[in-house]
Amino acid sequence: MQKIIVKTLCVSCLLTVFFASTSRGAGAHEHGVARLQIALDGDAGTQATIIFETAADSIYGFEYEAKSAKDRDAQKAGLDLLKTSMPQILAFDHSRQCVLKNESLKVVTEEEAHSARKPDPHHDEVEHRSVEGRWSVSCGKSLLGTKLSINLVDKFSRIHDVRVITISESSQKSSTLKNGKGFVGL
Ligand SMILES: [Zn+2]
Repeated sequence: MQKIIVKTLCVSCLLTVFFASTSRGAGAHEHGVARLQIALDGDAGTQATIIFETAADSIYGFEYEAKSAKDRDAQKAGLDLLKTSMPQILAFDHSRQCVLKNESLKVVTEEEAHSARKPDPHHDEVEHRSVEGRWSVSCGKSLLGTKLSINLVDKFSRIHDVRVITISESSQKSSTLKNGKGFVGL
């Protein structure tokens, strides 16, 4: 048990570092692009951590600060839809008996996301916000060697590219799904 916990923490740390260092370019996020990072934890392949990120515009239609009741309602509706539909968006092999659990979901400004970056006076005219979420996956059987079906475009039609990185103890793969949906091998 101890060994599994240590390994889980290590892969999660790796994922966080990897995410922070490579998931964004030098500037703002790309509109219409979602990023999914899937880390299979531990030897058994029955646990995974998922980090999702996309422009807020893709989830609730705008990126300025939600101040009016109408905007706050639209923001909440988009975030709620993302949270509740993730088990359909990410369809793991049914025979693996996986359960997804949302661990966090937040809206971050590009300034927060790039707190280490020097302020750019030319970039401040337009506000950008991203939606970032983390899910844990717990399965009855190993996910290794199975296919994961991803379909973001049915719920979020502004998303056209899904960049997926999968990390296990033995490999790391990246792929881009066009048209907001497709399959990746685990
Ligand atoms: Zn933006």
